[in-house]
Amino acid sequence: MKRSRNLFVENPPLFFLLTTITFIMTTHAQPQIARELFDRYDKDKHESITSRRFTQSQLLEWLKPYVEKNVVAAESLGTSAEGRTISLYTFGAGPTKVFLWSQMHGDEATATMALVDMFNFFSKNPDHAAARALREKLTLLVIPMLNPDGAERFTRRTGQLIDMNRDALALVTPEAKILKATRERFQPEFGFNLHDQDPRYTVGATKNISAIALLAPATNEERSDNAVRLRAKKVAASLAEVMRQFIPAHLAKWDDAFEPRAFGDNIQKWGTSTVLIESGGWLNDPDKMFLRKLNYVGLLTTLYAIATETIDDADIQAYEQIPFNTKYAFDLLIRNAQLKMNDRVPAVRVDVGVNFEEMMMNGAVQRSARIMDVGDLSIYTAYEVRDAKGGVIDTAKVGIERVISFDDLNRLINP
Ligand SMILES: [Zn+2]
Repeated sequence: MKRSRNLFVENPPLFFLLTTITFIMTTHAQPQIARELFDRYDKDKHESITSRRFTQSQLLEWLKPYVEKNVVAAESLGTSAEGRTISLYTFGAGPTKVFLWSQMHGDEATATMALVDMFNFFSKNPDHAAARALREKLTLLVIPMLNPDGAERFTRRTGQLIDMNRDALALVTPEAKILKATRERFQPEFGFNLHDQDPRYTVGATKNISAIALLAPATNEERSDNAVRLRAKKVAASLAEVMRQFIPAHLAKWDDAFEPRAFGDNIQKWGTSTVLIESGGWLNDPDKMFLRKLNYVGLLTTLYAIATETIDDADIQAYEQIPFNTKYAFDLLIRNAQLKMNDRVPAVRVDVGVNFEEMMMNGAVQRSARIMDVGDLSIYTAYEVRDAKGGVIDTAKVGIERVISFDDLNRLINP
């Protein structure tokens, strides 16, 4: 001990070098992999995907080359209510099985794009350390689109109008039966339940938009931990570390109340350590290309941690300390409007909160605006804030949660 201390005292550069190397090897391994994947993303991603609105036939076109080149193996698991084939894509032949399922809600496509990017990475870089480790140590079982009927119309529910994430017990939909049967068949150790949340959530007490929310779902009303959930929390902690690296102020935790009918909660209960990833919103990125990239980097980095068993070192506190999703933001917040009721009541100054909705009508996207709130909205944030400079809003013409025409909205913003 004495000698080595003297050695370092006499050789400060050596001391510096050794501590630096040790630091990089222990503390910095995961951030460095995440940074590398993040920086080189543009050459590894699937270039043809430019919108989060796509149908199953488009997805199949993107996936076809990976099947033909034997990067992944494809297998039919059955069909949706409207007869579309639901497929499983398998990568790797390792002993640890990881199950990833996306788009059980047809309009939640962000992670689906990231999964295609992941296959593209495997295809272009078979000798990369991450690709090799995943292939040798893991078997990835991927269902990129569980609800192709909903995806066809870009809606949440299945062809039978059922929310399949409330069908894990009743199992009346073919899609839910397929998901459950696939888990039972492979008994995977790890699971990733991939969704999109309302982009208007904010993080804890801040006004920051929640870009990504994570959850290691509970398996009972008491939300108690067992070995399966604790392992899921380690996975969530690994994901949290990646997200903190790139979006430190925009990471939230999803509501951890037990939902007895949901798949995440039940798959955790059935023995697969499961983490929910919810992609929220990001400013000036309606197609969520940045969140797609974060899903990709987070998933690959965490899968690498599982493959190399460094996941065991993850600090659960990194997950536990994440603030919950809280109140909503508005799409548009109009400050300084004059609210007029009638001639007897003087006009008052108010804020107006507006949300936009998109619906598919005859194959085209229809946009509408709805006034969600009026009054003192100073505690809320928004994707866009405008000053009405005293523009008048008339209670005879508008209502809360009622549609407002774009003409009326423009008159309010530009009096
Ligand atoms: Zn969902």
